[in-house]
Amino acid sequence: MRDAKPLLLLDVDGPLNPFAAKPHRRPEGYETHRLKPDCWVAQHVGVPEHLVKPLRVWLNPSHGAALQKLPFDLVWATTWEHDANEWIGWRIGLPRKENLPVIEFGSQFVTRSDGTYVKTWRVVEYAAGRPFAWVDDQIGDVDRAYVAKHHHGPALLHHVDPARGLTDDDFALLTDWAAGLTSKENTDAHRS
Ligand SMILES: [Mg+2]
Repeated sequence: MRDAKPLLLLDVDGPLNPFAAKPHRRPEGYETHRLKPDCWVAQHVGVPEHLVKPLRVWLNPSHGAALQKLPFDLVWATTWEHDANEWIGWRIGLPRKENLPVIEFGSQFVTRSDGTYVKTWRVVEYAAGRPFAWVDDQIGDVDRAYVAKHHHGPALLHHVDPARGLTDDDFALLTDWAAGLTSKENTDAHRS
C-alpha cells in the first residue's frame, strides 16, 4: 500500500538558516542563535572543544508550524543529521519530543564524480520510489537529471536562496505541488 503523504526532505543551512544573508542584516522574522553542535565541533579537527567558536545560526520560530501544516511527512536531509533534532527542530517550533527521521550521510558524504551534489544519490536511495519534495540551497539541474533517471516516482527538487531562507512563496509552491500529486492520483484511480 502506498504511503499517504509525500516526503519533504529538509536541509538546514540555506532553507531554515539563511546563512548567506548579509552578516549585519538578519532577515525579518529570524532569531540569532550561537550553537556548538557536535557536527560543527567535528569540523575543527585538532581544536579543543572549548576553543571552537560557536556557529551563528538564524532561525525563524514560525517555520515549524508552517512546515507542519504542509501535506508532507518531514524528514531531515542535512549535514546536521541527528543534531537537527537536538539543536534546530524545537527552535523553529517543531514539537520538542517528536524527533523527525534523519537521512544519514555519514562517511558517504564525499564528492561525486558525476557532478551531482553529495546528498543526491542518498536522497534517492532513502525515498525508494516514494514521492518527495526536497528543499536545499545546493541542488541544481544535474541533480534533477539524476533524480529523473534514478527515482521512479514524482519528485520536486526546489532550490532555496541561502540569503533568504524559506519564504511564503516556497510554502505555497510546496502546497501546490502536493495538491497536484493528489489530483493526479484521483484521476488515475478514476481511470483504472
Ligand atoms: Mg544547505
